[in-house]
Amino acid sequence: MSIPAIRIAALTKRYGALQALAGVDLEIHQGEFFGLLGPNGAGKTTLISALAGLVRPDGGTLEVMGYDVVSAYRKARRALGVVPQELVFDPFFSVRELLRIQSGYFGIRGNDDWIDEILASLDLTAKAGVNMRALSGGMKRRVLVAQALVHRPPVIVLDEPTAGVDVELRQGLWAFVRKLNRDGHTIVLTTHYLEEAETLCGRIAMLKAGRVVALDSTANLLQRFATHSLRVRLE
Ligand code: ATP
Repeated sequence: MSIPAIRIAALTKRYGALQALAGVDLEIHQGEFFGLLGPNGAGKTTLISALAGLVRPDGGTLEVMGYDVVSAYRKARRALGVVPQELVFDPFFSVRELLRIQSGYFGIRGNDDWIDEILASLDLTAKAGVNMRALSGGMKRRVLVAQALVHRPPVIVLDEPTAGVDVELRQGLWAFVRKLNRDGHTIVLTTHYLEEAETLCGRIAMLKAGRVVALDSTANLLQRFATHSLRVRLE
C-alpha cells in the first residue's frame, strides 16, 4: 500500500486558554478528494496552517507524502500546495511576478513555461502583466490557486476557496480542481457548504471543537445523518 498523502496523529494546538485542536488523527490517501467540514472555529484553518508549517503544534505529528512537517519541513512543504482563505498579496506585483516569486521561494528557476500553462488553464493569461491591486476578488482567488501550483505539488489543500465567490467562478473553480484530481493530485478541501462536499468529495471528516467527530465516505455520512441534521451540525 502506498504512503498516505497526509497523515496526522494526535495533533494538538492551544492558543492561550483555547484548545483549537484537541487530538486529531487523520489519514488521507493519495488520489483522494477529501472534505474537511466543520462550523466556524472548528479548527480547520489551524489544521491547514500546521500542515503548511505556519503554526507549530503543541503535540502530535503531521506528515505530507511521508515527510514529517517539522523534521523534514522543506520536503513536506514542497509536496503541498496551499490555497489560503485570505486574499493577501503584495498589491504592486503583477500576476506573473508573484508566480515567479513563489517559484523562487521553492528554489525553482526558469519556471515560465509552467507558469504560462497554469495561467492559461485558469484563464489568467490576459492578466499576467496586471498588478494585483487592479484585479477583482474573483481573479485574485484564481491567482491564489495558481500560486499553489507553481512547484507542482502532488497534494493540494484549499481552505474555503469559494467563500464569497459568485456561482460562475465557483463552478469554474470546481471544474478546475476536479481536473487536478483526475490528473492524480490529492485534494483536500475545507468548506461550510455541504452541497460542495457532497458533489466533490469521496470522503469527509467533520471537525468540531478541534476533534474529528465523524469520518466516512460521503455516501455513508449522508446516510448516517439525514441531510438536515448534518447541516444543523455544521452550522
Ligand atoms: P472558520 O470556518 O471560521 O475559518 P476554522 O474551523 O478554520 O473556522 P480556526 O480558524 O482554525 O477554525 O480557529 C479555531 C479556533 O482557534 C477559533 O476559536 C479561533 O478563534 C482560534 N484561533 C485561531 N487562530 C488563532 C490565533 N492566532 N490566536 C488565537 N486564537 C486563534
